[in-house]
Amino acid sequence: MKNTFYKQLLLGLVLILFTTTTLKAQYPRFKVLAFYSKEVESAHVTFANDAIKFFKDLTIGKTFVFDLTTNMDDMNDEKVKDYQLVMMLNDFPTSEAQKLAFQKYMENGGGWMGFHVAAYNDRTTQWPWFVDFLGGGVFDRNSWPPLPAKLNVEDTKHPITKALPKTFIAPANEWYQWKPSPRERKNVKVLVSLSQDNYPLGLKDILPGGDTPVVWTNTDYRMIYLNMGHGSEIFKDATQNKLIIDAFRWVVASDKKRNVFNR
Ligand code: ZN
Repeated sequence: MKNTFYKQLLLGLVLILFTTTTLKAQYPRFKVLAFYSKEVESAHVTFANDAIKFFKDLTIGKTFVFDLTTNMDDMNDEKVKDYQLVMMLNDFPTSEAQKLAFQKYMENGGGWMGFHVAAYNDRTTQWPWFVDFLGGGVFDRNSWPPLPAKLNVEDTKHPITKALPKTFIAPANEWYQWKPSPRERKNVKVLVSLSQDNYPLGLKDILPGGDTPVVWTNTDYRMIYLNMGHGSEIFKDATQNKLIIDAFRWVVASDKKRNVFNR
């Protein structure tokens, strides 16, 4: 009788110890490093500041670590190796060392979430790998001034977009169009694009028509690109916020080493 009591007590203590140590080990679940610049176009700095607040608010309860840097030289093997996701809010690698480190990180299964100007490249960009990574599209033109736009959700089953309506009006943004359209690549999955109903879009700089993917992934990598990222309106719409959160979650969850959301 006594023996059984002590056995049960011991079992209980072991269970408590096991539960507290495993729970402790679960949080924070992953690490994110966000790169941004304060030296770029002011509307892109405004967006970065809003994004930092938005993602910091998501870390409540130590869900994940959200580290920040304005130093692109932090794009090096040693610094990024422990991060499940690197975010580019308004900047991109420019030196050879930064470019090589980024390529290596991505080719080894790293995660990338890029907004707006983070995908900017033009005919003078001497970085073929990056253009390829983004789906082959070179920046062609933009709409101006920043305006809201009707977006088409092209895949209603994908984890990033399945909760969204088939169309929605996104808050004011400067919209970029790419040539050729990333859609032409077989390894590109377009999730959201500008509706044809927007055209002509703009008052000064005008997108007259054509195919304008807005959110897409290159399926060879663990990456998502979102064209949103100009000015102070981006995080003011619940539907768009849902898209951003689900895109973020999807990149993190796609880590081949470990899906951190599986308990
Ligand atoms: Zn812009």
